[in-house]
Amino acid sequence: MGILEVKDVGKRFGGLQALGDVNLSVAENTVHAIIGPNGAGKSTLLNCLVGKLIPDTGSVMFDGQSVLGRTPFEINQMGISRVFQTPEIFGELSVMENMMIPCFAKRDGSFRMHAIENMHNEKDIVEKAEAMLEDMNMADKRHMHSSSMSRGDKRRLEIGMCLAQEPRLLLLDEPTAGMARADTNNTIDLLKQIKEERDITIAIIEHDMHVVFSLSERITVLAQGTPLVEDTPENIKGHPKVREAYLGE
Ligand code: ADP
Ligand code: MG
Repeated sequence: MGILEVKDVGKRFGGLQALGDVNLSVAENTVHAIIGPNGAGKSTLLNCLVGKLIPDTGSVMFDGQSVLGRTPFEINQMGISRVFQTPEIFGELSVMENMMIPCFAKRDGSFRMHAIENMHNEKDIVEKAEAMLEDMNMADKRHMHSSSMSRGDKRRLEIGMCLAQEPRLLLLDEPTAGMARADTNNTIDLLKQIKEERDITIAIIEHDMHVVFSLSERITVLAQGTPLVEDTPENIKGHPKVREAYLGE
């Protein structure tokens, strides 16, 4: 049994079958990549895992408990944290303030924006946020306005904000999309570091094959809403169906 078990999940948008009978098992403490062409249903699948979409059919189990029927917040509290395709940080706040928000959410089970004014007085929160910024190698950027950071640093902050919630499963939707090569390589190194230092399972949607092959232990190829094949990176590289359907050969 994997920490995440997706069984026969289907999702329709009007006349479009975005997902049809998706089965996926993600083993604990592994990095599992989901790849596939544009429109294959990757983001839709992720949205079904975090409660942003409700599948029409099938089941999604996390650590033996169903996530279906729960709100995104409840699923987050269960231990699933997600990095979105476009960075979701508060641009008008400093890096440090951004990092304090998930620390509050973890401690109190909620976060109210008006708490920002007083949050620098909360010693345990300040210490945890500082430690997280250290972990992310961002301590020197703590006073920066987060809107003025590079795309790579925004992504790094966002990943750190997810980790501050101490998730058991981290989901990433194309974390290197739109990044320059140097930022992409930094993101690979960061994810490798996270994998080594933490008890965490990572499921990553990624179109950049360099990222996929650098990080993942299992790969599922999704095509037209259905898993085409699931295997090790070595076998995926040589798989004729994958070369044809995905790599376009
Ligand atoms: P991917 O992330 O693999 O590129 P998506 O999951 O975003 O693919 O989309 C799968 C298919 O579902 C696409 O054809 C897309 O246009 C469609 N789709 C996604 N979200 C919606 C939605 N909210 N309403 C209607 N169609 C959608
Ligand atoms: Mg997508």
